[in-house]
Amino acid sequence: MGIEGGRGDFEWVYNDQPHTSRRKEILAKYPEIKSLMGPDPQLKWVVSGMVLTQLLACYLVRHLSWKWVLFWAYAFGGCINHSLTLAIHDISHNVAFGNKQARWNRWFAMFANVPIGLPYSASFKKYHIDHHRYLGGDGLDVDVPTELEGWFFCTPLRKVVWLFLQPFFYALRPLVVNPKPVSQLEALNAVVQLVADIMIYYLWGLKPVLYLISGSILCLGLHPISGHFIAEHYMFLKGHETYSYYGPPQPHHFQRRLPHGAPRLSKHPWQQTTACEENGSRVLRLAAAAYLLGARAVGLCL
Ligand SMILES: [Zn+2]
Repeated sequence: MGIEGGRGDFEWVYNDQPHTSRRKEILAKYPEIKSLMGPDPQLKWVVSGMVLTQLLACYLVRHLSWKWVLFWAYAFGGCINHSLTLAIHDISHNVAFGNKQARWNRWFAMFANVPIGLPYSASFKKYHIDHHRYLGGDGLDVDVPTELEGWFFCTPLRKVVWLFLQPFFYALRPLVVNPKPVSQLEALNAVVQLVADIMIYYLWGLKPVLYLISGSILCLGLHPISGHFIAEHYMFLKGHETYSYYGPPQPHHFQRRLPHGAPRLSKHPWQQTTACEENGSRVLRLAAAAYLLGARAVGLCL
């Protein structure tokens, strides 16, 4: 679509979804990658540290004025929460405790979800399976923007608005595109989150609760740390639906540091990923954000 932006159709392809072919290609080229697959023993400690840091921040912001609560939500808390959402992605692939302890991964994801302020880890897991299985599949992969989104958010200004609202689209799109019955894990996730929010409110008041929730919303939308979404989710060149991201905040991105395609080797500890980086992988840094103004607001996503 190029830098002009516009209202063209989605890019429709009818071949196999790229994760499968990329996985085969990468494993054929670098078979040693298999030896790096497995649970990440550090992940649970890193995530626990982030959750505790956010609880400490809740305590510290309890008496600040609202403007400073929002400032710290955007500048600090939201960054940790953004990182936690990416950790929850990895945990959904059982990276924290391995495939044999799948339940532990589900419960741990609920713990990692606590600072996000709103329950989503169980729903994410439910839909993320489809994302990998049917990447880009119409009506199946709920990460793909709807036709209405593609039609409406077609100018630079509207695309910025879309970016700002991105977390809402992620949360609500599944209910429109592919609604599924609520699972027991989702109900448990909601109860755990509600109890955590009430406890924080009871201990330190409303400001810490809004610090957490507003940070999540702000830092999953129009925020530098969300630059990887742009690199991963938008089509800049015809035929290249997704890109790997190697921008400055990538250490916060856990498994997302992997070249696109390698996350399909879904049990890869993130700290081993430098061993997997392919020479010549397409690199799109945060500067891509400016490019977004002209790129399609729709496309396949990581
Ligand atoms: Zn995934």
